[in-house]
Amino acid sequence: MYSFDYQRADEAKAAVAALSGNDDVKFLAGGQSLLPTMRLRLAQPSALVDVTRIASMKSIALDGDKLTIGGAMCHADVASNADVKKALPGLADLAGRIGDRQVRERGTIGGSLANDDPAACYPSAVLALNATVVTDRRR
Ligand SMILES: Cc1cc2nc3c(=O)[nH]c(=O)nc-3n(C[C@H](O)[C@H](O)[C@H](O)COP(=O)(O)OP(=O)(O)OC[C@H]3O[C@@H](n4cnc5c(N)ncnc54)[C@H](O)[C@@H]3O)c2cc1C
Repeated sequence: MYSFDYQRADEAKAAVAALSGNDDVKFLAGGQSLLPTMRLRLAQPSALVDVTRIASMKSIALDGDKLTIGGAMCHADVASNADVKKALPGLADLAGRIGDRQVRERGTIGGSLANDDPAACYPSAVLALNATVVTDRRR
C-alpha cells in the first residue's frame, strides 16, 4: 500500500464536491474491490472520499410496490432487511450469497453497481429487475 489522503463525506453534495472533477480522487465505499486493486497498484488514487456515512444513502424503504435501496447499504443489510425480503426475496437471497461474511458486512450495493464488474451479482439483478439507478447526474 502507499500513502493517500482520506476524507469522510457527510452528505452526497460534499462527496461530489470533493471529487471536484479530479480523476485522481475516488469514492471509497466498502473497499472490497477498490482496496485490493490499490494493494496491487492497479489503481493509485491520491485521495479517497468515504461515502459510507452519508445518511441519505443509508436507508431501505418500501412504498407500495416501489423498493428503494440506498447506495451505502451493505450486502448483509440488504440480505436481512424485512422490506427487501417481502418485496424481492430473490434479491435478499442474492445479497446473502455474495462473497463471505466480511465482504457482505463491508461491500455496498452502490459500490458494486459503480464497479460494474460483469461477473458481479447486483449489476445483472438490476438489469433483470429493470431497476432505476439514481445518481447525482441522472437516473
Ligand atoms: C473475497 C471477495 C469475494 C467477493 N465475492 C463476490 C460475489 O460473490 N459476488 C459479487 O457480486 N461481488 C463479490 N465481491 C465484490 C463485492 O461485492 C464488492 O463489495 C463490490 O464489488 C464493491 O463494493 P464496495 O462497496 O466494496 O465498493 P468499493 O470497493 O469501495 O468501490 C468500488 C468502486 O466503486 C466506486 N464507488 C463506490 N461507491 C460509489 C458510489 N456510491 N458512487 C459512485 N462510485 C462509487 C469506487 O470509487 C470504486 O471505483 C467479492 C469481493 C471480495 C473481496
